[in-house]
Amino acid sequence: MDDAQDYDVIVVGSGAGGMLAAVRAHDLGLKTLVIERSDHYGGTSAVSGGALWIPANGESPNPDSPELSLDYLRAVTAGAVPEAKLRRYVEYAPRMIAHLKALGVRYFTHQELSYPDYYPFAPGALPAGRTMFVASTDGAVLGEEFFRLREADPSYRLFNRIAMDNEEGLAIAAQAKGWQLTLARLIFDYWSDIRWRLRTPRDRQLKLGGALIGGLRKALADRGIPLQLKTRMRTLLTENGRVTGLVAEQEGQVLHIGAARGVILACGGFEQSQTLRERYLDQPTMASWSATPRENNTGDGLLAALEVGADTEFLNEAWWAPTLPTPSAHAPNTVRNLAMFLERGYPHSLAVNRLGKRFVNEACSYHQFGQAMLRDNAATGANMPCWLVFDATFRRNYALGSLLPAQMVPDSKLPPEWLDNLLYRADTLAGLAAKLALPADALAATVARFNAGARQGVDEDFGRGGNFHNLFYGDARHTPNRTLGELITAPFYAVRLDLGDIGTKGGPKTDENARVMATDGQAIPGLYAIGNAAGSVMGGAYPGAGATLGAAMTFGCLAAADIAQERDHPSR
Ligand SMILES: Cc1cc2nc3c(=O)[nH]c(=O)nc-3n(C[C@H](O)[C@H](O)[C@H](O)COP(=O)(O)OP(=O)(O)OC[C@H]3O[C@@H](n4cnc5c(N)ncnc54)[C@H](O)[C@@H]3O)c2cc1C
Repeated sequence: MDDAQDYDVIVVGSGAGGMLAAVRAHDLGLKTLVIERSDHYGGTSAVSGGALWIPANGESPNPDSPELSLDYLRAVTAGAVPEAKLRRYVEYAPRMIAHLKALGVRYFTHQELSYPDYYPFAPGALPAGRTMFVASTDGAVLGEEFFRLREADPSYRLFNRIAMDNEEGLAIAAQAKGWQLTLARLIFDYWSDIRWRLRTPRDRQLKLGGALIGGLRKALADRGIPLQLKTRMRTLLTENGRVTGLVAEQEGQVLHIGAARGVILACGGFEQSQTLRERYLDQPTMASWSATPRENNTGDGLLAALEVGADTEFLNEAWWAPTLPTPSAHAPNTVRNLAMFLERGYPHSLAVNRLGKRFVNEACSYHQFGQAMLRDNAATGANMPCWLVFDATFRRNYALGSLLPAQMVPDSKLPPEWLDNLLYRADTLAGLAAKLALPADALAATVARFNAGARQGVDEDFGRGGNFHNLFYGDARHTPNRTLGELITAPFYAVRLDLGDIGTKGGPKTDENARVMATDGQAIPGLYAIGNAAGSVMGGAYPGAGATLGAAMTFGCLAAADIAQERDHPSR
């Protein structure tokens, strides 16, 4: 590592926001270093779907405009976020995509498969078009760096090995038209890659978050931007109120590294710190419920920023997602909580609290589902965990986390320890209620009422299936409503859902250029925060798929631009 003061910019964390910020800073003539605490780069961004929510992106199949997008953001953030910051996001996000394209990281919208916005009734909401997807790439171009890229989430890998993109994953999960061909092609491509197979079982196809991070890693390498792994920022260095560098630990050594022009905190939220979760989030809360990679995102950025006088915002917020505790079939004694992004929308299923009662439109977004768990738990004390209950028709046709549809992997082929542990099963609803310690009468009444509505294709209690968002996540072949189906075919099943998350979203308060604000309302010179290391531009809302990475990367670019601007106009 170079001597102190040798860098203009240090980026802390190698998620997508951090890496893009580093590339932009370099391209604006700033000497830049990225440090990463883990022995793998990519953070949660690498295990993500890699989708980006980009308003007015010019490719949407539905007419969109900055003003329409701003209407939507204003409505869903409900006054919690300054207009200037929302506007900056809407205006700059499409430019961020252009920067990515210039690096060879290709994003596109999907005509048939584009996710809907998550608040279908809000003004300005679109049924499709704002979520952009990343094109898959060949990981071999990374050379040895391929093996330091954090591996994809198990739910995005077939048989825990073969990488799947959105289209492939959705087709197999719901056994949509042509899924057998998709499956056969994936398996063939994987096994016929013989030279690579002799080297490693890991699939060299980079898809979703892996494709995004792989592309950014290559951009860093092409430019000679150093990325130091196993290097953990501990505190910030200041001189006369300006942040001038940081103190880091690198394999037992303490390093003082200077950053003449700025430090960009891109080191994720505090989702993996049980202490900070208990300090800031609603209770109960467990780090193990989070679907994010273990250990690394423990709020170091927040703590360091607090020490230099940062103000904070949205500390009780997370990007909520119900998660399914899944004992690993491959790593002994390991349980991973997998996010349930879409499965709740498939027919022949419903969710109940521990009183056996429904509490939410199950097909809503994962964030809103999490918020409903919190609300219901506050009201009843009988949620967190809750249960997703389904019948044999659901089990046969649809995937659920690591559980492939029974048509593909029947119960008899599951790891034996998964039964009545991950997947609870009984021949009758009463038998299932006994296994789950739920009141049998209440569960029977809930299912009977739900079934009566499902036969008509309506959910009078929660409106499930009554909007474009819910219908997207249903089964297109199912009538009269894609997301409503009776639970009548034995055996009956259930899985436990915890209140998980895919990252926290509160942190140092930042302005529209990602500058960290002090408690006196002034920007702290030289300090920037982006992604989950910052208070979110989305406030308590989750506008659509890709809103977390979209914001991290957009404000990463803006932070780099602001640092360059300050260099060029020091008296501004
Ligand atoms: C399964 C899954 C799917 C998802 N899909 C999507 C999606 O499609 N679209 C979307 O927008 N969002 C998605 N998300 C959420 C998204 O991945 C995260 O919100 C996002 O990656 C956060 O980015 P970040 O840069 O803030 O943090 P990260 O990507 O986690 O990067 C932070 C990095 O900082 C490092 N770090 C932490 N502390 C230090 C320190 N002290 N010093 C140095 N380094 C440090 C960490 O090790 C980590 O590598 C998904 C999440 C999950 C779990």
